[in-house]
Amino acid sequence: MKQNQVCYATLQFDEPWTLENYRRIGGYEAWEKIVRERPERGEIITEIKNSGLRGRGGAGFPTGVKWSFMPKTPPSPEKHLVVNSDESEPGTCKDRDLLRYNPHALIEGMAIASYAMGAELSYNYLRGEFLDEPYRRMEAALAEARDIGLIGRDIKGSGINIELHNVLGAGAYIAGEETGLLESIEGKPAQPRFKPPFPAAAGAWGRPTTVNNTETIASVPAIMRNGADWFMQLGKDEKNGGQKIFSVTGHVAKPGNFEVPLGLPFNDLLELAGGMRGGKKLKAVIPGGSSVPVLPGEVMRQCTMDYTSIQEAGSMLGSGAVIVMDEDTCMVRMLERIARFYFTQSCGQCTPCREGTGWLHRAVGRIENGTGQPEDLDRLVDLAHHIEGHTICAFGDAAAMPVWSFIKQFRDEFEYHIRERRCLVGPGAAREAA
Ligand code: SF4
Repeated sequence: MKQNQVCYATLQFDEPWTLENYRRIGGYEAWEKIVRERPERGEIITEIKNSGLRGRGGAGFPTGVKWSFMPKTPPSPEKHLVVNSDESEPGTCKDRDLLRYNPHALIEGMAIASYAMGAELSYNYLRGEFLDEPYRRMEAALAEARDIGLIGRDIKGSGINIELHNVLGAGAYIAGEETGLLESIEGKPAQPRFKPPFPAAAGAWGRPTTVNNTETIASVPAIMRNGADWFMQLGKDEKNGGQKIFSVTGHVAKPGNFEVPLGLPFNDLLELAGGMRGGKKLKAVIPGGSSVPVLPGEVMRQCTMDYTSIQEAGSMLGSGAVIVMDEDTCMVRMLERIARFYFTQSCGQCTPCREGTGWLHRAVGRIENGTGQPEDLDRLVDLAHHIEGHTICAFGDAAAMPVWSFIKQFRDEFEYHIRERRCLVGPGAAREAA
């Protein structure tokens, strides 16, 4: 199976982040060709549409279609591409490795995307915790790209102006929501905005803006270099084109990031991650970051790693963070940890989210510590459904989905916890039974 064909293509070299190594895989060839030939902007958007590239940050929206929402007005420093490098979803750790190990792919992707949308001034927003290696590598790479004249004003005498900047956030999960991110980039607290208007109409500083994920934009140079068909055929079908990075964590022998074709059987991905740690049995998987519905292990074993298959199984591919749980995992304790995270990260603007995440966390906590009541389960599911879809941003859904899905898939375990006031599984069960 082919790996690392797109975003992690420089990993084959020592010091994969250098300009020299990026050049060895054909880096900047696509951007230099565009600068030379100045194609119609629509041609690039069509190529991206034909490649089947979908947003890699979580929503999976077709990238070329998103780009086409930007006004077709002449290029201007008052239109922006903003790259969302605020990777904060628990379990997700792919974008920070991209920033560390292949920063030039992101810069070239930003240059091409900015050109295609007529955005002359664009930003890469990194989460505050990326202050060290990821931010410094991005800054160094950007300086190199400027030095060789591929970023800046009147690039190579073409009349094209593209200026790019890295912006460091202050560290908040909600800054990863695209309008929260835009608030933060303007120097305000990262509180998501009401929509509409959507960012393509009124984004950063009220100007037309497209927000794309890091991996999405870093995929663009390889597509432009090798063609839309090449990318599409790396994946499974038209809805699942290309390769995707999966962050595999949890109870596996070799956790890590794996860039593999979309459509790879889950069992093969698990094998790449060294299989189950200690030979334990697979119990459950959260296939796309902590906010998507959990699936039982036997269901995941039938899935392939792509948008369609995971959706048909009842969950979402999300950010590609695959959290693997073995037979010793207490699902009540796991849900309590997730609910605590969302409770602490609500921005507090909407009542269902601000109050509801606290209720969810406290009720799951009661079940976990042995003081839950039988009626708590239906109340929790009811509450989760009342939060979902009733908030300003998708955070409410993100907090609610783990709750109803854990109870749906593992209800017997929650009932055991309430009835027996102890764990059904794992070291906790043995300790409490002793
Ligand atoms: Fe803030 Fe939660 Fe409302 Fe999103 S859903 S705007 S995080 S309170």
